[in-house]
Amino acid sequence: MSDLNVVSISNARIPADPFVARHLIDGDWRSSTDGATFERVSPSHDAVVTVACRGNLLDVDAAISAARRAFDEGRWSATTGKDRATLLLKVADLIDRDRERIAFHETIESGKPISQAMAEIEGAADIWRYAASLARTLHGESHNSLGNDFLGLVLKEPVGVVSIITPWNFPFLIVSQKLPFALAAGCTAVIKPSEMTPATTVILGELLLEAGIPAGVANIVLGFGDPVGAALTTDKRVDMVTFTGSTAVGKAIVETAAGTLKKVSLELGGKNPQVIFPDAELDAAADAVVFGVYFNAGECCNSGSRIIVHEDIAEEFVARTVALSRLVPFGDPLDPSTKVGAIITPEHNNKIDTYVQEARATGASVPLGGKVLEVPGLRGQFYEPTVVTNVTGDMPIAREEVFGPVLSVLTFKTLDEAIALVNDADYGLSAGVWSENVHTCLEFARRAHAGTIWTNTWMDGFAELPFGGVKQSGQGRELGKYGLDEFLEAKTVTMRIGKNREPWVSG
Ligand code: NAD
Repeated sequence: MSDLNVVSISNARIPADPFVARHLIDGDWRSSTDGATFERVSPSHDAVVTVACRGNLLDVDAAISAARRAFDEGRWSATTGKDRATLLLKVADLIDRDRERIAFHETIESGKPISQAMAEIEGAADIWRYAASLARTLHGESHNSLGNDFLGLVLKEPVGVVSIITPWNFPFLIVSQKLPFALAAGCTAVIKPSEMTPATTVILGELLLEAGIPAGVANIVLGFGDPVGAALTTDKRVDMVTFTGSTAVGKAIVETAAGTLKKVSLELGGKNPQVIFPDAELDAAADAVVFGVYFNAGECCNSGSRIIVHEDIAEEFVARTVALSRLVPFGDPLDPSTKVGAIITPEHNNKIDTYVQEARATGASVPLGGKVLEVPGLRGQFYEPTVVTNVTGDMPIAREEVFGPVLSVLTFKTLDEAIALVNDADYGLSAGVWSENVHTCLEFARRAHAGTIWTNTWMDGFAELPFGGVKQSGQGRELGKYGLDEFLEAKTVTMRIGKNREPWVSG
């Protein structure tokens, strides 16, 4: 273990009293109708950090009723873009004000490093500001080339009531990729955060109330996929579901939402490749590979979990990657120097280990890591930085989301072979290429099947640029102006000019 950079327990402490999380329904904080609660245990410190209300069908019903009423009465949809933008900007300022508090709860519930959580909350505030700018750009089309007798209008209207269901890996950032765009469009919402990470969505609810959001426009119901999440996808008063999470649950939601033909937008998993050509800037590539695989402990839809390296440089590149991996500070997420924190649950830590042991048993080599990491002073769960080589394209570790700090290395000889490996995947979220030859980068960008392509970089994101996947990585887009379009419907208005309509029936 001594050759890894392990950060032992820091001075920062878990509060003695857990955070108490309640539902936000129709502008009020409410307990569950049956009084049920559940606890979240910190994945790093093995202590109860949150006690949350456990939602049931009555709670969901109350939240959907509130959102429906707020929408139908025009409490929000009838406001001006200027008014919506003003509220979203206030929320952004409040997020900035409470950044440390939000980041702290994000860290102790999810296990992500505090420095990373701080950056994510800052990024979330930026997204709220960007969505505010879009709220004032809403407009449709007019068609005046339909002949002298007609004028056509296309109005852009809010979809209506939106269910927002989010995962545990980027709780505050992901709700911020959905809610401000839904609000900018004029929709109302019922939000269900992951049962692992309810606290920061509840804090967001507090900030929305402080900013003056009308009652019922944004509601929060805490609890589990069954029954809360499922009910949010079947109720006919909900017009749209926007979901981020696993592909398996995404598929289930498509089926349940089909009963009422809701619009469904899905941000799902990924098995994202980075292809490294011999002419690449190899130091930069190795650093980006290490960042790509260990960021958020690999519990990241965009994890660069498989690299495809030209065989001429594979040995040297793996050696660089292993050497850099040893320097990455793994350990107590509350220590500001930590870059990789805890794994979300003990069960998930076992699942990561199973992938590695299976790969080893079927011929792969593990030049670094490959087992559970002990962090002095902490009783949570951690996994070692792990590099797996001699991987073939048919191994589960090369095809499935491991969702841990585990890098799979494959090799290629030609661009065609690299592209074939990239596209031989059920997922299509993101892909990267490293080469100093712009033609190689452009050809890769055109031929790789993914929603996002990075050339000579990895995981840079901007509120202005759309994000989403192809194939089993999802449908629809978040961020950019596309993120707003998801929450809008087109309504056609065809107007006859003058009293000159030809009768259909004569006489
Ligand atoms: P998950 O699918 O287990 O849970 C996500 C949310 O769905 C949770 O709130 C959960 O309670 C809820 N849920 C569970 N069953 C449900 C059901 N039947 N109906 C409705 N809701 C239900 O995912 P997770 O483990 O929380 O998150 C990890 C997954 O999310 C990974 O696969 C990751 O790749 C994916 N993810 C994707 C993106 C993206 O933008 N593409 C971003 C982050 C995470």
